[in-house]
Amino acid sequence: MTQSTQMTTHTLGFPRIGERRVLKWALESYWRGTLSAAELQATAKSNRSQILHDHAQANITRPPVGDFSFYDHIADTALMFGQVPSRFGSTANTLENLFTLGRGKNIDGHNIAPLAMKKWFNSNYHYLVPELEADQAVRLDADRYLDLVREALAINPQAKPVLVGPLTFLYLSRGLDEAGRLAKADALAAAYHQLLSELKTLGVTWVQIDEPILTLDLPTAWLQAFEPTYHRLKVAGIKLLLTTYFGELNGNVALAASLPVDGLHIDATVTSDLIAVADRLPDYKVLSVGIIDGRSIWRADLATLLQRLTPVYARLQERLWLAPSCSLLHLPVDADFETKTPDFLRNNLSYARQKLGELAILARGLTEGAAAVAAELAQATAARAELDHQPGRVNPVLRAHIETLTARPSNRAEPFVARAAAQQARFNLPLLPTTTIGSFPQTHEIRAARKAFKNKEISADQYEASMKAEIKHVIQIQEKIGLDALVHGEAERNDMVEYFGEQLDGFAFTQEGWVQSYGSRCVKPPIIWGDVHRAKPMTVAWSAYAQSLSQLPVKGMLTGPVTILFWSFVRDDLPREAICYQIAEALRQEVNDLAAAGIGMIQVDEPAFREGLPLRKKDWAPYLAWAVRAFKHSVADAPSDVQIHTHMCYSEFNDIIESIAALDADVITIETTRSNMKLLDAFAQFAYPNAIGPGIYDIHAPQIPTVEEIEPRVKLAMEKIPAERLWINPDCGLKTRTWTEVIPSLEAMVAVALKLRKALN
Ligand code: GLN
Ligand code: ZN
Repeated sequence: MTQSTQMTTHTLGFPRIGERRVLKWALESYWRGTLSAAELQATAKSNRSQILHDHAQANITRPPVGDFSFYDHIADTALMFGQVPSRFGSTANTLENLFTLGRGKNIDGHNIAPLAMKKWFNSNYHYLVPELEADQAVRLDADRYLDLVREALAINPQAKPVLVGPLTFLYLSRGLDEAGRLAKADALAAAYHQLLSELKTLGVTWVQIDEPILTLDLPTAWLQAFEPTYHRLKVAGIKLLLTTYFGELNGNVALAASLPVDGLHIDATVTSDLIAVADRLPDYKVLSVGIIDGRSIWRADLATLLQRLTPVYARLQERLWLAPSCSLLHLPVDADFETKTPDFLRNNLSYARQKLGELAILARGLTEGAAAVAAELAQATAARAELDHQPGRVNPVLRAHIETLTARPSNRAEPFVARAAAQQARFNLPLLPTTTIGSFPQTHEIRAARKAFKNKEISADQYEASMKAEIKHVIQIQEKIGLDALVHGEAERNDMVEYFGEQLDGFAFTQEGWVQSYGSRCVKPPIIWGDVHRAKPMTVAWSAYAQSLSQLPVKGMLTGPVTILFWSFVRDDLPREAICYQIAEALRQEVNDLAAAGIGMIQVDEPAFREGLPLRKKDWAPYLAWAVRAFKHSVADAPSDVQIHTHMCYSEFNDIIESIAALDADVITIETTRSNMKLLDAFAQFAYPNAIGPGIYDIHAPQIPTVEEIEPRVKLAMEKIPAERLWINPDCGLKTRTWTEVIPSLEAMVAVALKLRKALN
């Protein structure tokens, strides 16, 4: 390849947790005090040079720098511009202060709470939400950032610094209202200007500036702030690439194309007409096309992508840049580490490193012609064909059956009022019945038993015996505490999605598919590669055993279709909706088997229900329609006297309350403590018809709640929801807590229920 025809290729960011999560281990050792600051820095540095090396190796011309963070890049941005709440004391941009923003601190016996976390758009990454204060001056404190840039430039002078855009930063912050946040735009732009000037003196030519909020429904005031802000931060000699991702620009395309910057990056995975965007762009600007899906673990269909790019390249020539759609932060590092997945699958995985190679092939295909990369294209096509022909990829019988589902009524046979009467006749529950959300402490012994079974160190019989002993223990404790609806405790589950994935056809698991969730925490979602099908009951034996031990109802416990979907990596050849229905059908069979086994209460957890909401309001209705339908399908056949519960944590319900009601669960338990029952207002105002169990203590904190704390919360709840439809329960499952915390907490909860019940009677 000659220099003159080389096309500019780049990435918006790369996983920072490192190969085999090296940074995670280093961070956690450092926090424990078993690794020195110098050793932590050394690990991070070798991580970063590996990333530059990977880019060079794959011939990617402009690797990113500054996307790296020891914890979170939004918190780094807050520190760099001095936007740290005063409760933290020091605002200096140091590594220790970054860790304090993420982890909080105890100073002289009192706790400084960390910044809140929020999902980064519709990804599973959580950023720290900056808290702004009006009188906190914006100032530039960029040494840590500039050091990273110097380090990268020494290795590759083409490295491209990455910045969070000033308006995205302000928009995602809290603490001030809209006007208050926008009032900071001028000062922030001035500080960005100063930073860009410093980058120029280091020899930087291109800077990437991320404004993903341009893909949202932005209020006018924010849209209007773009033009003046970007004028102010301009520095002669520095070219800016404005990046947008996670969605189409839609109405904002004219604005994005006209801003005083030198290039625009768009997410081609969701932009249907690339030429239309190219046509909007002034002649001097570059268009960076995010052609490879930066969040998909699947190998791309390179031949098709090349065809898509060809007319755009014909139009733009060297003004066309190629990149993945978004930062590769949301992918695991290297699919070559997956030595245990079957070949047909591994050959089709493309993690961050593989994406670099795919990008380079597309660039060569454009500049040298498709023939030059014919072998690579053929290889991609062949790998995909192998996957497509894999038994289990398409299950025609299931597909035909799913087809009929859309025609099938998803309502239960009788309305809530009739069901409630049948359930009351069956269970004879007291007023303000008490329950828990499902899991009980996952003790060291439980984990050890699961692990030993997995590693075949104990037999299936031994494993079953130890789980049964645990279930018995949990049932006895709950009876002793005096709870009204019991649970089996979920000891057999390592994870609420993985447990079901392991038993369903169509799922696969990885060894190294870790993705950063927040700070040093990573998740390893299962992969849905084939049609999801239930070959055999998944929970019935455990639930039936638990129910055999008590006269009280023991809830069957399932993870809902929407949550299983959103917490997995999904196949790219079927719409999410279709995958969700397959899962729903598997769950329907499970619900029916549970009901037939005499389980009278079945909980279908949907903590991800709200998470699945699309970024743009216009897309909400279709999503909510299929998500509601999938949930309802799962429980549609449950007889009237089977009580269906659902559970949702970290949700706000105001804007989706109609859909929550449409789920028509007999009981919904929600997390309400941290909002001091405020979240119940949505239910009260809507006159939500079914039963609700607001969480009355926060299970995330180690403190044991007292009767004095719990009672006013329940009373508050009783003001909003009639007592006949009110349950009492903790905010969420108890798996992360210890028995010494759980028992007195639940005792206090039951004491409050008994007291208020007496008063009602
Ligand atoms: N049933 C699950 C548990 O108790 C629910 C977990 C969740 O809501 N995230 O652990
Ligand atoms: Zn929960």
